[in-house]
This record gives sequence, C-alpha cells and structure tokens, in this order.
Amino acid sequence: MEETKKKPVKKTEEAPETKAAPKLTKAEEKSKATTLRIIAIILWVLAIGFEVLAILTLLKALYIPGLSQMWWMIIFIVLDLACCLVAGFLWKKASFLDPFKKTNNKVGFVILNQLGVIMAVICFLPLIILLFTNKDKMDKKSRIIVTVIAIVALLIAGLFGANFNPISAEEKEAAEHTITDNVYWTAFGHKYHLYEDCGSLKNSANIYPGTVTDAIDAGRSEVCFFCANRAEKEGMDMTGINVEEGVEELTGD
Ligand SMILES: [Zn+2]
Repeated sequence: MEETKKKPVKKTEEAPETKAAPKLTKAEEKSKATTLRIIAIILWVLAIGFEVLAILTLLKALYIPGLSQMWWMIIFIVLDLACCLVAGFLWKKASFLDPFKKTNNKVGFVILNQLGVIMAVICFLPLIILLFTNKDKMDKKSRIIVTVIAIVALLIAGLFGANFNPISAEEKEAAEHTITDNVYWTAFGHKYHLYEDCGSLKNSANIYPGTVTDAIDAGRSEVCFFCANRAEKEGMDMTGINVEEGVEELTGD
C-alpha cells in the first residue's frame, strides 16, 4: 500500500482545538441577512398594498362583488397583518445575523432595529384615521367593528415587530472576541449562559449548546446576569458585551 502524504495540521495559539466553529461563517450570516431583509421589504410593500385596498374599499372607490364592504375590509386587514408579522419576524432575525452598527449612529440604530414598529404604524394608522374621519362611507356598526379590528392589528403588528433586545455589530464582535467557549440557551427568552450549571437553567427541559455566534444568531443577545457576574469574578473582561440587566443589590459584592 502506498503511503499517503499528510500535510501537518497547523495549530495556531489563537484558535485552540476545543473551540467549535459557528454554524454560519460571517459571509453566510451577511448573505442570509440580506436575503431576509429583501423578503421583509417586499412583504411590507405588499402589506401597504393591502392597506390601500382596504382604504379604497372604505371610500367606495373599489367595489368587489361577493362579500360586503365590511368583510372585504376585514380580509384586507388580515392579509395586511399577515404580511407585517412575517416581515417583522424576518427583519428581526436578520438584525441578529448581521447586526447594525451603533457607533456614531445611535438614532439610526434604533430606527433600523425598530423598523417593524414603524412599518406597523405605516401599515395601519392611515386606515384607522380614515375610518374615524369617513363616517358617511360605512354604517356605524360595521365601521366600529372594522376600526376595532384595525387597531388590534396595529397593536399586534407593533408588538411583534418590536425588537426588545437588539444587539449592535460592535456588541456581537466583542462577545465573539471574548467568549470562546460554548454557551447555552433555552427554547425561550433572549439570554445565553456561559455556564451549563447556571442556576437559572435548572428548570429548563431543553438546553442548546453552541458558540456565542450561534446563540446570537438564534436571537439570544444578552449574557445571563448571573453568568456575567460569575465570569467577571473569574477574571473575564465583559467590556462591550451585552449583559442582561439585573437587580441592583446583586451587582454589589
Ligand atoms: Zn446563566
């Protein structure tokens, strides 16, 4: 048998063997985020289209046979909401895969992360205002029903579109730089843990391990408060890393 020549594997000190590779490379994260953002924008445009149809139906500029004015409006509002919800979900997912930069752009950072809320307002508020101002275009009972549905849709879209735990590109980079060991997260929430035996993981049925990149990609953007405290005591520098806000008394030693 012929001997196969094997290239010696280079071992660098920066990348110890124990460090697992994230599921997605930086380039894959970026391209996936771009795709998700494009789909989200298309869905928001569609949502505005359904809002326009609802408005035209209200103003009786559009007549579609088969159902009453009220039912067509409800259908358009539901379609508007469906597009908004999926768009908001995809937009948020993208902002964990490829977060926006915060440095020198604090206002832009908030706007981009909360675009789901802004779009929810754009996709429903004009219709709601017109429902209040066009009292003669629809009978009172139907108008009240449609108005309530539109307001509820606005609230649902706004709530689901909001990003309650955004992360910046800088914060993700800091976490990836500092935290090289596996981290742990659960099916719900927005935290990840540095220690598998963290007290707040005790009652979780499913614990997912992975790199800090995987955790953030999965929408877990903050280090658990208890894990962060413990890591700091063990000498880890948490500068620049998104840490869960904790109870004031617990921060003291
Ligand atoms: Zn923890």
